[in-house]
Amino acid sequence: MTERKDKLTPSKIVFFDADKTLWQVFSKDPTQDDWASKGKTRTFTLMAEGVVVRTEDSTRFTLKNGVDETIHKLNKEGVIVGIISDNDYEDVEKVCQLLGIWQYFDQGFVNVRLWKGPADKIQMISEVLDSNPQTQNSKVLLVDDSERYASQMANSGHNFILSPKDTFPKDIILGFFGI
Ligand SMILES: [Mg+2]
Repeated sequence: MTERKDKLTPSKIVFFDADKTLWQVFSKDPTQDDWASKGKTRTFTLMAEGVVVRTEDSTRFTLKNGVDETIHKLNKEGVIVGIISDNDYEDVEKVCQLLGIWQYFDQGFVNVRLWKGPADKIQMISEVLDSNPQTQNSKVLLVDDSERYASQMANSGHNFILSPKDTFPKDIILGFFGI
């Protein structure tokens, strides 16, 4: 675990989505949507540093530039770093481990489960915050590639930064927390 300040009274929390936010997803058929838990069986292996392949269908998950550095800095500055993702927990854990970023996330702030329909990420965030009562007055940010969460987050009094599908908004995220 990376050392960080202010562990007992977290006042700043950032939740990252996984697919297309932390990593790019390259499928054999780019016209089809793809995500970590797509397919009946999933086996992930490291192809090169920062590149994971799902062996069943050769889909590649490539860590975006700046993710490692950003999460490391956030940790160091006392920002709690979590994941909110619509996938099977084991798949996100495995991909993060292979990409070398799993250790940066605070397990109490990781909420990953596969939804049948569209994920309610606001509910997933509320579940995490409710189980961590010390976070009541925290500044909460969601970083996600899906624009539909922007207004939902605003309505629930939280903040949102869009992560474009092929870049990572490193400076915007760090700037948001004054880093
Ligand atoms: Mg996504």
